[in-house]
Amino acid sequence: MFLRIDRLQVELPAPERQDPNAGAALQELLGGKYGEMSTLGNYLFQSFNFRSKSKLRPFYSLVAAITAEELGHLELVSNAVAMLNNGPDNDDDEASGGDISDAPFAAMQDIRLAGGFFAHAGGAMPMNSNGASWNMDFVTTTGNVIVDLLHNFHLECGARLHKLRVYETMRDPTGREVCAYLLVRGSVHAHAYALALKQLTGVAIEQMLPTPNIDLDAIPECRKYLGEGSHRRLYTFSPDDYREIKAIWGGEEMALPGDPEGELEVVEGAPEGGRIHQLSGVPSAFTPDYAPEELFEVATLLTGRMR
Ligand code: MN
Ligand code: MN
Repeated sequence: MFLRIDRLQVELPAPERQDPNAGAALQELLGGKYGEMSTLGNYLFQSFNFRSKSKLRPFYSLVAAITAEELGHLELVSNAVAMLNNGPDNDDDEASGGDISDAPFAAMQDIRLAGGFFAHAGGAMPMNSNGASWNMDFVTTTGNVIVDLLHNFHLECGARLHKLRVYETMRDPTGREVCAYLLVRGSVHAHAYALALKQLTGVAIEQMLPTPNIDLDAIPECRKYLGEGSHRRLYTFSPDDYREIKAIWGGEEMALPGDPEGELEVVEGAPEGGRIHQLSGVPSAFTPDYAPEELFEVATLLTGRMR
């Protein structure tokens, strides 16, 4: 089962301006072939379908623990998409959508993912940067643990390729932070699957890393994550379970060459993370009679009854 924590995995800077096209680009990291929906879907169903869980415990635990991290990545990217579509943090809810006879949202005709505004009011959805739906064809669960781990290794390497390309299109700090953090975490996951494959096959597949060959230190937003050792850390995302991942992520194994040196470390539980930004209400979702104060009044009454 899953436990939910009302935090993002990292602290995100607020966007400097509203930029729905940047939000659309970031959608690639959510619902693209190598996006978070794909990594989540793969590890989720592989962990559900895993045979001989007790006999293959370290490998089952690895896939299960990384599943939980991917769910948090989905949350992180989704929040960032909505933040970019929204613009700078703003608690002042506008009272209405403006004069509807004067095309108050005319600019939305020209954004890349116009459906993101028309159907989802600027929220994120499981689609890629062109609005194509994510689907289960992006999930591989073969029942063969080596083939599945090899697929996962490829998936993490492919995801880093896409993250780099999306990063290279981004000027906004919110989008850049998400790409940089996920590049570091993708490196950890690729490394972890490589070490798992080495345990099972004897092949030192981690020597292929980093694939693609990205110097993370050349990305300014990656440096603080490298400095604090995120590239050496794997989380169990559980109060008591999945500790067996130490059999794979640990022992004699060290950080990848090129990254800051140090021993690999398993952290029991979840990272401290960062706050979820408050986004203002969306007049366009309620036009023409948006009355946020009435909604807030109902919510305040309900919350009061809990005390
Ligand atoms: Mn991820
Ligand atoms: Mn991953």
